[in-house]
Amino acid sequence: MSQPSDIEIARAARKKPITEIADRLGIPEEAVLPYGRDKAKVDRDFIASLADRRRGKLVLVTAVTPTPAGEGKTTTTVGLGDGLARIGENVAICLREASLGPCFGMKGGAAGGGHAQVVPMEEMNLHFTGDFHAITSAHNLLAAMIDNHIHWGNALDIDARRVTWRRVMDMNDRALRDVVVSLGGVGNGFPRQTGFDITVASEIMAILCLARDLDDLQARLGRIIIGYTRDKAPVTAKDLKADGAMVVLLREAMQPNLVQTLENTPAFVHGGPFANIAHGCNSVVATDTALRLADIVVTEAGFGADLGAEKFLDIKCRKAGLSPDAAVLVATVRSLKMSGGVDKADLGAEDAKAVARGCANLGRHLENLRGYGLPVLVAINRFDGDTEAELAAVRDYVEGQGAEVHLCTHWADGGAGIEGLARRVAEVVQAGDADFAPIYPDDMGLVEKIETVARRIYRAEGVDMPAPVRAQLADWEKAGFGDLPVCMAKTQYSFSADPGLRGAPEGFRVPVREVRLSAGAGFVVAICGEIMTMPGLPRVPAAEAIGLNEAGEIEGLF
Ligand code: ADP
Ligand code: MG
Repeated sequence: MSQPSDIEIARAARKKPITEIADRLGIPEEAVLPYGRDKAKVDRDFIASLADRRRGKLVLVTAVTPTPAGEGKTTTTVGLGDGLARIGENVAICLREASLGPCFGMKGGAAGGGHAQVVPMEEMNLHFTGDFHAITSAHNLLAAMIDNHIHWGNALDIDARRVTWRRVMDMNDRALRDVVVSLGGVGNGFPRQTGFDITVASEIMAILCLARDLDDLQARLGRIIIGYTRDKAPVTAKDLKADGAMVVLLREAMQPNLVQTLENTPAFVHGGPFANIAHGCNSVVATDTALRLADIVVTEAGFGADLGAEKFLDIKCRKAGLSPDAAVLVATVRSLKMSGGVDKADLGAEDAKAVARGCANLGRHLENLRGYGLPVLVAINRFDGDTEAELAAVRDYVEGQGAEVHLCTHWADGGAGIEGLARRVAEVVQAGDADFAPIYPDDMGLVEKIETVARRIYRAEGVDMPAPVRAQLADWEKAGFGDLPVCMAKTQYSFSADPGLRGAPEGFRVPVREVRLSAGAGFVVAICGEIMTMPGLPRVPAAEAIGLNEAGEIEGLF
C-alpha cells in the first residue's frame, strides 16, 4: 500500500480562492491582503477590531519524545483540523512557518504530510510571504548599526568584545558559525569576532511571535540587549535608536498569513521560533486572531511535550493570557518502539514488548500535561507497518492510565481518518473541564523556576548550576528581570540533558551551563547541554535531489 509523495499529493490539491477560505472565518474581503491567489495576510486594523470578541476553544497538539522515526505532530494538527471541519465545527489551524535551512538539509517540511497538509506546500516551505526575509533584515540592520556605531566613535562605549548580537541568515551553513568581521583596514571598522545564527534562532523571531501589536513589537525590539559597555552595563537596541527602523521592516510581517489545508480548512501559518533557545510556537497574533474567529483552534508546539508543550504553556499562554481547553498527545508505534530500546534499523520487525516498554515515555508526558490542568487525549498516528499487537500494547497502556486513545489514519485518509478523535475533542472542549495553570508563578526566583521545570517535567533529581550562572541570575533579578519565565534549551531526544537516555529515565541531574537573557522576547534562556544555533548540512543534503521537472514544477522537496 504505497501512497504518492507529499509534494505529489500537495500538487493535486483542489485549492479554493483564499478569499473564500477567509470568508469561512468571517474575514471580509477588504481585510484579506492576497499574496497571489492562495496565500494572504490578514489586515491589522481588522485584527484590532476583534479585540472584544469572545475567544473559541484552544487545543494543543504535542507529542511523546521525538525519535528519528518521526511522530507527525504537524500532520496530526492538520488532520485534526480537517477532522473537526468534517464534523461541522468552525475550526482554524495555527502552525509555524518553515525555515529554508532544513528544507535543503534533511528531508521533512513544516506543512504536514500525506493527506493532511497545508497548501501551497512548496511556497510555505520556501519563501512564503517574505516574513523570514523581514526578520533577517531587521536583525542584520541592528547588527550593522552596532558596528557602525563603534566605527564612528562609539559614543555608547560598547565593548566590542562583549557584543552578543550576531548576524543571521536563513540557511544551514556551518561555515558561518564563527567569523571575524571588519577586516580590511581602517575604513572597514574595528575587527572583532562574531558569527551567524539561523534566522529562526533570532531573538526577533521570538519577539515577533510574542508581541501583541506594533507598539508592543517596537517596545520589545527596543529592549533587546545587544552587548555590554566596558563597565558591563547592558546596551539596548533603543540606545542605538534602531527600534523604529526595525519595526518598519517588520510591519507587514506582523500580520498573520492565511492558507488552507488539502480539505480547504483555514490555517494560519505565522512565525517559527526555534524550540530550544526560544519558545517554539507560532505567533500570539495568529493564535489570538484564530481564537476570535473560530470556535475551535488547533495548534502545535515543537519537539516533545517536555519542551514544546512546557514552553507553550509556561511562556506563550502565560504571556498571552491564553488558556488551552485540551491537549492531544501524539504517539507512534515506531517512536515508542525506539523509546523502548529498538534501533532505527530494526523498526520493521514487530516488537510489542518494546512498544510496551516505550509507553513509559508516553505516560510521563501524559501525567505532565494533566499536571497543567488539561484534559489529554492520546492520538496514535498510524504508520503502514504498525501491527495489531503493537497497537494493542499502546491502547492497553493508555487505557490503564485512565486516558482515551484514538487510532488515527489522517496521513493516509485525510480528515476522514481522524473523525473519531475530532468528535471527542469537540466534546471535551465543550465540556469545559480544563483548569489550566502554568507550573510556576511569575514571582518565583529564576533558579527555582529552572529547578521546578527540571524536577516536575523532566523528573530530574536536581539541577547543577555553576556559581557564575547563579550569580548571573541573581544580577538579572536585581535588574528587574526576575519576573520572566524561563526558556529551557535542552536536547529534544530525552527527558534528561543526555540525548542517549531514552524512554523515561530516572536518577539524572540537569546541568545548566549557561544562561542568556532575551530581554526583548521576555524570557531567560537556560542552556542545558550543547545547543546549535546555526545548523549544518548533512553529508548528502536534500538540496542535491531538488530541482525543476520538465513542466517547471518543483521536484524533490519532500
Ligand atoms: P513533526 O511535526 O512531528 O516534526 P510532521 O508532521 O512534520 O512531524 O511529519 C514528518 C514526516 O513524517 C512528514 O514527511 C510526514 O509525511 C511523515 N508522516 C507523518 N505521519 C505519517 C504516517 N502516519 N505515515 C507515514 N509518514 C508519516
Ligand atoms: Mg512539525
